[in-house]
Amino acid sequence: MDTTAPAPKAGILDIAAYVGGKSKIEGVAEPIKLSSNENALGCSAKAIEAFEAAKAKLFRYPDGHANALREVVAAYHGLEAERLVFGNGSDEVFAFLNQAWLEAGDNIVTGEHGFLAYRISALACQAEVKLAPEPDQRVEIDALLDLVDDRTKIVYISNPANPTGTWNTPEEIAELRARLAPHILLVIDEAYAEFVDEPSWASAFDMAKDADNIIVTRTFSKIHGLAGLRVGFGYCPTPVVAALERIRLPFNVNLPAQAAAIAALQDAAHIEASRQHVLTWRPRLVQEIRAMGLDVRNSAGNFVLIHFRDGDEAARANEFLMSKGLIVRHVANYGLPQALRVTVGKDHENRAFLDALTEFAKGLKPEV
Ligand code: PMP
Repeated sequence: MDTTAPAPKAGILDIAAYVGGKSKIEGVAEPIKLSSNENALGCSAKAIEAFEAAKAKLFRYPDGHANALREVVAAYHGLEAERLVFGNGSDEVFAFLNQAWLEAGDNIVTGEHGFLAYRISALACQAEVKLAPEPDQRVEIDALLDLVDDRTKIVYISNPANPTGTWNTPEEIAELRARLAPHILLVIDEAYAEFVDEPSWASAFDMAKDADNIIVTRTFSKIHGLAGLRVGFGYCPTPVVAALERIRLPFNVNLPAQAAAIAALQDAAHIEASRQHVLTWRPRLVQEIRAMGLDVRNSAGNFVLIHFRDGDEAARANEFLMSKGLIVRHVANYGLPQALRVTVGKDHENRAFLDALTEFAKGLKPEV
């Protein structure tokens, strides 16, 4: 190799680049895309109106402090406005936390099937990523704590989790908090909070209120259907805000995104319709997929995870679905080569998916 050629710092080229959900199938004009946990109902018409109205102001910089959005979010969730940090998606909030907390040789701890975005920016800081086993694909508090050492700076947990769809109870989260040294940040990613319908789940906003080390993140990409605009936020202890606000670039959340996010949060009817759509279809999908003889667990997100016998069978199922114009997510890069994740789609999309999967399942040899 030419040693004079520019080279990034050590470790950067070892990072596996994030691969998003596919959106195209060769030769299929309009594939059904169920691969990115987007909102099947799209976004609020009011958000689109606000986005359209923002056109006239595109020559202006956005409000760098997202004040109007901040006030609306704070009032909606009953949080202190000044404890919010907005990001270009919640992904950016994770990146800020990693950037502000991790030095080379430090580590983050998360579940083995945990969301990949936490890891990418941690590796970019030359930190180590420690993955705790998830027996039964559920984050286990003991397993996370077992990996915590004196170089651990942040523990990440998504609740509910993507791609497994599993969740942790408030008691488990409280135990994690109680047993974690107070100088270690605990990030609780609640991207799918609005889709939960489980009495054994609660948001960690309350727990975060009087904690010095808890950050709770939320996104406008899921329930609000604004994945394309990129808005998320973290509810942080004041000293964490002080750190993140020093590294956040001035205009990270763009002007139409702020306008649309405000309108989305004010559209209670769309929020409720989006939630009800998932609450209606999710159990239906689970029931019908189980009836095909396939293994699918209960999920708390706007998606379900289907387990096949092995990675080959999952890959064949994926290919078969693609041949029918359906795009789902083979989650091998989450340590689940035997599984496909399917987002709840529109009514006709879900039916098309179930029909195709039924056809595939009929061709499977029964277990011997
Ligand atoms: N957390 C989890 C668990 C997710 O699945 C996702 C989106 N796939 C996000 C966070 C990221 O959301 P955003 O679009 O706000 O960056």
